[in-house]
Amino acid sequence: MQSDLELLLKLQVIDYDLGELERSKEYLPDMMENLHREIRETEQKLTESRHRLETGQLRQKQLELEIKGKESDLARYQQQMMTIKTNKEYDALIAEIDNIKGTISARETELLETIETIATAQKDIAGLEEKKGQVHENNSKQLGILQERIDSIGEKISLKNASRQEVISAISRPTLSVYERVRRGKGGQAVVMVRKRACGSCYKGLTPKKIQEIKRNDRICTCDNCGSMLYWDDGESQ
Ligand SMILES: [Zn+2]
Repeated sequence: MQSDLELLLKLQVIDYDLGELERSKEYLPDMMENLHREIRETEQKLTESRHRLETGQLRQKQLELEIKGKESDLARYQQQMMTIKTNKEYDALIAEIDNIKGTISARETELLETIETIATAQKDIAGLEEKKGQVHENNSKQLGILQERIDSIGEKISLKNASRQEVISAISRPTLSVYERVRRGKGGQAVVMVRKRACGSCYKGLTPKKIQEIKRNDRICTCDNCGSMLYWDDGESQ
């Protein structure tokens, strides 16, 4: 036959586990969502980098074509310089040549920047493809484990509830009702060990008389300050 105290400590562990199982109904789906999100974000970044690469390559072709066209225009104008007859024609042609040279220079600058953008995008894509593989592998594994945990919550709760019924059926009614009341009031541990001659929950010092009473363990003593149910453990309470 186990004492009420032993049974209460057992009950407290079961209630803690039940609380954790209830909380896991909330946080396990959150954890799964984070893992899914990481997969989605990596894929999104990869798509963006691929888009930057395609846009860059397209722009590179356009710029190269445009520069080639402008260079042949320039060659043509320079050819015309040989056959110029008037100052007015000369001035007009010089202005045209300067204009084309300016355009070519601007396009060449843009071409260099575009080539740089392409190189960066290619590097990003290589890195992201590797990351995507890793994230997919790691997260899929974790998602599988979390899904199994979620799937088994119901069964675990039923088992814990069955143990709970078994334990509470052996505890005396008055003791159980004190336990339930303290647990509801404090929202946590109802049974606490005396530590350094003080309540293990609120740390209020206990009188020698109270300690003697607790040590006797013939009835459940509660803390006058916080209401916790107190017990003495020879190994740790002194
Ligand atoms: Zn206390």
